[in-house]
Amino acid sequence: MKFDSRSHGYPRLAMFVDGEWVEGGGRRTHQVVNPATCDTIGEMPLANAADLDRALEASRRGFHIWRNSAADERSRVLAGAARLMRERVEQIAGNVTLEQGKLLVEAKNEVLASAALFDFYAGEAKRIYGRVLSRPSGARSLVVKEPIGPVAAFTPWNFPVDSPARKLGAPIAAGCSVILKPAEEAPASAIAVIQALLDAGLPKEVAQLVCGVPDEVSRHLLASPIIRKASFTGSTAVGKHLMRLCADTMKRTTMELGGHAPVIIFDDADVDKAVNILVATKYRNAGQVCVSPTRFYVQDGIYDRFVSAFSSRVEKINIGDGLDETSMMGPTANPRRPVALEGLIADAVSHGARVRVGGERPDGKGFFFRPTVLSEVTAHARIMNEEPFGPIALTARFSTFDEVVEQANRLPFGLAAFAFTENGRRANLIADAIEAGMVGINTTVIRYADSPFQGVKESGHGSEDGPEGVDACLVTKSIHQI
Ligand code: NAD
Repeated sequence: MKFDSRSHGYPRLAMFVDGEWVEGGGRRTHQVVNPATCDTIGEMPLANAADLDRALEASRRGFHIWRNSAADERSRVLAGAARLMRERVEQIAGNVTLEQGKLLVEAKNEVLASAALFDFYAGEAKRIYGRVLSRPSGARSLVVKEPIGPVAAFTPWNFPVDSPARKLGAPIAAGCSVILKPAEEAPASAIAVIQALLDAGLPKEVAQLVCGVPDEVSRHLLASPIIRKASFTGSTAVGKHLMRLCADTMKRTTMELGGHAPVIIFDDADVDKAVNILVATKYRNAGQVCVSPTRFYVQDGIYDRFVSAFSSRVEKINIGDGLDETSMMGPTANPRRPVALEGLIADAVSHGARVRVGGERPDGKGFFFRPTVLSEVTAHARIMNEEPFGPIALTARFSTFDEVVEQANRLPFGLAAFAFTENGRRANLIADAIEAGMVGINTTVIRYADSPFQGVKESGHGSEDGPEGVDACLVTKSIHQI
């Protein structure tokens, strides 16, 4: 069934606390705005302290139930939720586009990737093993893996289905309960994920969904000894703040934070192939992707050819409402991004950069920003140091391998990095030299359900996806018996 916002409608928004959908009651609300039209499409209730206490208490009970469940049951719930998300893809994706702005086709891919992740975790739930060590005279030592406990998870607005699915899937596979605080800007997407899990048989105490003033919610939840782990995706600054809050009760953390991905294009690269791949990836979700290729370092011999081929492709990107099939890029998600991007571009130009394409907001309503290419961007420009999180490709020249490695590793971030070369030995050398949690060689596809996703340095720590994602929700116990 095709998504039609008039007949499907944006859902009524509510929190899910202790088995009940909660709204009204004089609670504060957050107005959800369609970024393509600036229309208010819903009001999300915000939690008060009593709601958060109720969620904590339910989560404590939920953990007791779920840690004692059979692996088969956890697997069945995750596989069932995956099936329901596929069945509901049109409806869920339509609401993603309404509240977040990305193209409908991107929203559908996001829902399907989340379903694939639930399917993968349905398998992993059955593969949580320990080991047995034989001792003399019939004695044994056991090493067992146990779920860590209730998890508090905080997700951002850029992947409003996929981030909640990541934060829920791994703990649910491991036997933990979860309190999820999705971004207030895009709550219907997270509600759809919780609904799929509940409809697939997840006991109602195991997952809670609360929204609120972010700092109020995180301070309240992370002060509680009930919560044993915090998982956050968002900016490095907020990640550091949450880690400080976790220190008092020594909670484990998984932090998926900002990036500023270098893309190194050597002069032996297949330039046409690189341009095709990079234009399609750079402007996905209007560049609001933590692993988006951002700092394009292009070797001297092909710099002019690359920038001109890349720019002429970017000029053809048609921006518009994500529900319109002719749009090739949607708006940014909120009014903060265009303002921040304009400031970063003005600063880059004052440091000698040239605007080759875009560089400004179009006329009309919505939080749109033109797809942009800058050339000759210097290392001193703020945009070469701060994550732009928008549809901007920054290009700069390099001449030697050592010089580009130094530039690529110069920042405190280390999430994703990309390189394009047809020389196999150079590919190995650059993959080894780059400080990043994920490296793509001749590709920008670096996300698979079965592979760990993580950053190094100030891009965070702890893996999501893959068996490592489940392991991050387990603790190890040694039992010695004679
Ligand atoms: P922000 O840092 O204020 O918010 C990012 C996310 O963190 C939001 O979902 C927000 O609700 C949440 N958040 C903020 N303060 C919090 C707190 N005290 N406790 C719990 N959650 C909290 O900034 P923003 O304006 O939304 O985005 C700005 C920058 O954040 C972007 O430019 C980008 O660098 C980064 N960001 C990164 C990702 C990512 O996927 N790694 C996602 C969104 C934003």
